[in-house]
Amino acid sequence: MCGIVGYTGFQDAYEIVINGLRRLEYRGYDSAGIVLDKDDKSFAVAKTKGKVDDLVGISEDLKGIAHVGMGHTRWATHGVPSDRNSHPHLSNDKKIAIVHNGIIENYDTIKTMLIGKGFTFQSETDTEVLVNLVQYFMDIDYTLSFPEAVRSALNEVYGAYAITVMHEDYPGILIVGRLGSPLAIGLGDKEYFIASDASPFVEFTKEAIYLEEGHMATISLENGVEIRSIKDNEKIT
Ligand code: GLU
Repeated sequence: MCGIVGYTGFQDAYEIVINGLRRLEYRGYDSAGIVLDKDDKSFAVAKTKGKVDDLVGISEDLKGIAHVGMGHTRWATHGVPSDRNSHPHLSNDKKIAIVHNGIIENYDTIKTMLIGKGFTFQSETDTEVLVNLVQYFMDIDYTLSFPEAVRSALNEVYGAYAITVMHEDYPGILIVGRLGSPLAIGLGDKEYFIASDASPFVEFTKEAIYLEEGHMATISLENGVEIRSIKDNEKIT
């Protein structure tokens, strides 16, 4: 099972994400990680095998540096529990970060294709393949926006996933997608929360959208929550 937490708003993203991960600990996990989109528009990443407390032990200097971020508790399916295999994973160009619950069944075929195109991998996970597939789509078609590239990548994979993705060149934006793993979006006043269930954000808002199967959402303070179907890009109202 394991968990995902995300935040974009005006509060300290580190506190929201770490406290949210603690609320998801009951789901079971072997590693934990966090990525923050710093106000200078670069990523800060910390991740480790072990507990959320271990993550806090290596990341307390990230307190108060960002208003956007996401975190993950991992239950290893592809690759042993280790610091390197922990999430978040970054794309080769280091601009895209992903957290993922679930399994990408056809990761091996895609990994072989990406290695053929010059991509390299730091972990044994299926997840790192997906984030590099997003980069690949942005690299081969410069007109493709970040949300379009995520959608294209998701249409190439099968398996089960709940994902949250961030891009350094799209500050303040979180993209989520879901197929076979739960994901909820909490709607606050000038802030949005993402979590595997509502427990990380109930203290902040009672309003939530439970993302439906095969849907993705682009979430930003400017444009709110825009939901589309992954398959045919249909806008969901
Ligand atoms: N398959 C991914 C991995 O092994 C995600 C596992 C999870 O759901 O935490 O890293």
